[in-house]
Amino acid sequence: MSGRRPKVFISRELFDEAINRIKQYYDVEIWDKYYEPPREVIIEKASKYDALVTLLADKIDCQVIENAKSLRIIAQYAVGFDNIDIECATRHGIYVTNTPGVLTEATAELTWALILAAARRIVEADKFVRSGGWRDTKTAWHPKMMLGIELKDKILGVIGLGRIGSRVAEIGKAFGMKIVYYDIVRNEEFERKYQAEYMDLYKLAEVSDVVTIHTPLTKETYHLIDERFLNKMKKTAILVNTARGAVVDTEALLKALREKRIFAAGLDVFEQEPLPPDHPLTSLDNVVLAPHIGSATYEARLGMANLVADNLIAFYNKQIPPTLVNKEVVKIRPPGFD
Ligand code: NAP
Repeated sequence: MSGRRPKVFISRELFDEAINRIKQYYDVEIWDKYYEPPREVIIEKASKYDALVTLLADKIDCQVIENAKSLRIIAQYAVGFDNIDIECATRHGIYVTNTPGVLTEATAELTWALILAAARRIVEADKFVRSGGWRDTKTAWHPKMMLGIELKDKILGVIGLGRIGSRVAEIGKAFGMKIVYYDIVRNEEFERKYQAEYMDLYKLAEVSDVVTIHTPLTKETYHLIDERFLNKMKKTAILVNTARGAVVDTEALLKALREKRIFAAGLDVFEQEPLPPDHPLTSLDNVVLAPHIGSATYEARLGMANLVADNLIAFYNKQIPPTLVNKEVVKIRPPGFD
């Protein structure tokens, strides 16, 4: 690159603290609109810049990568990276980094907010009070009003026992729940520590009172939760998804919720985002909806921005970025802008 400063395109406004750190090494352009940069903008910026900071709605497929002759690093502002063609980036010697760990607590806590809201019908109850539904019953208190589900001594089924899944399970223990889990690998240390039981996916569906999803979105996890899985769940069970929308078959879930084949669902992620307000999910009382806010705490979002900065700065200094996703890329091209 013969002496010039590398240029980074940042696809949304991050915290100034992190931007100022990046500016010490890079010339920075920021997309300052609230909405996502359109695809043409992503293609154009990728073709002209040395580094990109991307969000999960920025689709970085092989077409974008093949046009990006000077691009050396994509620093994703998320732990999930299903929007990036990693195999193609690796082949082209492009480093891809993500932001694991710093958002674990935020996402685990949001998962619990959804579990509790679904179990105790909090959103439905709030609507009942505000809309005058409670007043209209002329009844202050009734033994059968707004009955929900208690969690103590129930079974929490965790699908994907990684960073977030294991933190959700740990919190579940504090509620007095028994933990069962499904993952591609067993974690015997976790099993001993939390008296957790590993089981097959469909067995987990049968025994769990709450099923919570924490896998990445991959070819293998696409529609992992389908009609067959939902049909095996208890009628009194809750399904919560804070992973990625496409891990659940939305049509199958809609059917299960409409027919009350499960008690309720709590969803932070959707196959279509933003979810349109006239989507059939919005007409159901037994589902709690959030607009993909799993990591939306000040602490997590600042931590993510600083981790993006750490990755870009390490790469600039010819070091392997601390949270490199495609570790094999190092064999194709050393880190740095030479
Ligand atoms: P993680 O530590 O990598 O955990 C994912 C776990 O899922 C790992 O144990 C992984 O096993 C397992 N897994 C992978 N493929 C699987 C499969 N086919 N079947 C069963 N288990 C499988 O990641 P994390 O930090 O916990 O994050 C999990 C996901 O949450 C992210 O990928 C992201 O999509 C989502 N997320 C959403 C939000 C939000 O705003 N709602 C926020 C943060 C994260 P291996 O480690 O063996 O691959």
